[in-house]
Parts: sequence; C-alpha cells; structure tokens
Amino acid sequence: PHVVCEACIGCKRTDCVDVCPVDCFREGPNFLVIDPDECIDCAVCIPECPEAAIYAEEDVPADQQEFIALNAELAREW
Ligand code: SF4
Repeated sequence: PHVVCEACIGCKRTDCVDVCPVDCFREGPNFLVIDPDECIDCAVCIPECPEAAIYAEEDVPADQQEFIALNAELAREW
C-alpha cells in the first residue's frame, strides 16, 4: 500500500482524499493516514499531495519507516 509520512503532520489540505478512487484515507490525530487493507496502489494521490508526504511502501525513507505501522494502526483506530 501507499503510506502517509511525516510531512503530512499539520497539513489541512485534502487534495489526496479527493482523488483516491477507493476512499481509503482516514483522519488521524494530526495527519491523514491510508488504510493499507483498502489502498490499491494506484499512486494518483502522490502528485496531489502539496507536502510530498505520500510514498509507496517500498519507497518510504529509512528514517520514517515507523509510519508504515502507524498508518495501519491509526486507520483501524480513527
Ligand atoms: Fe488511494 Fe491510490 Fe493513494 Fe492508495 S495509492 S491511497 S488507492 S489514491
């Protein structure tokens, strides 16, 4: 799946949500997350993100690997 990372924190834009064909963005405490069970890896959200906060899971930067589990956890909770 795709993963929302650190740069999303505090961003109020929802351009990514608007383009997602399967509506798999979820609202977290202070940033959006992607439900990994529903994301179809279409990648259309990547260029829409004004903060460049969205990565394919295999491209998540080494220092932000914790966001992979965080997206999954928060998608379930919120
Ligand atoms: Fe939605 Fe596609 Fe982005 Fe996954 S990659 S969150 S399905 S827009």
